[in-house]
Amino acid sequence: MSGETLFISDLHLDAERPAITELFLQFLRGPAAGADALYILGDLFEAWVGDDDLSPHHQRVIDGLHELTGRGVPLHVMHGNRDFLLGAAFADASGATLLAEPAVIDLYGTPTLLLHGDILCTDDRDYMQFRAMVRDSAWQQKFLARPLAERHEMARQAREQSRRSASGKGEQIMDVNPEAVTAALRRHGVGRLIHGHTHRPAIHRLAADHAPATRIVLGDWYEQGSVLHCDATGCRLQQLPPPRV
Ligand code: MN
Repeated sequence: MSGETLFISDLHLDAERPAITELFLQFLRGPAAGADALYILGDLFEAWVGDDDLSPHHQRVIDGLHELTGRGVPLHVMHGNRDFLLGAAFADASGATLLAEPAVIDLYGTPTLLLHGDILCTDDRDYMQFRAMVRDSAWQQKFLARPLAERHEMARQAREQSRRSASGKGEQIMDVNPEAVTAALRRHGVGRLIHGHTHRPAIHRLAADHAPATRIVLGDWYEQGSVLHCDATGCRLQQLPPPRV
């Protein structure tokens, strides 16, 4: 054990970007293998339309995760807006614990709130409506009852739609709402928040209700890897070099 807990998110793993998947598998066998725990705060996969969605690419990732948990490293996976259908069969196969959102953990003595982050983007009204729909369990059951090919097609259309609407939205709308951040810290009585989703890695110091607070944003894995290392002294963001291919 290294006395470190690692946090990642927004890998968006996809068979079409195999180099990033390789980087991730190296990360699991390398730094993650010696960690106290690994937290994946959403969007591990570019798309996940049900636990029966077992492409060879998905299986390869699950095998990598299983190898990690087989070494005794606790793995916690939170849903993102792309892979909110990760379910019990995925957890079983990978050895992961699905982490309900929001989660508050004791991180080496500091209570820390964990979110994927999309819930904080309250200025994006259309998206918040869509989120409420797809997070509804009745909607999910109906969706999962459809044939796999149909679910893939619906997910593809949803991604296309989101790309189209994103290009018309301002930068501000796509980022977290500062009041939503303060409200979340207040509601959970914590001074530290870790989230992903916005793909804007940074450690922000802020004042929430006149008390110092920290908002840590994880980076995405599009061009490189991004890992947050936390120990008893604090947290630091690390950028992994781009994959060698
Ligand atoms: Mn996301």
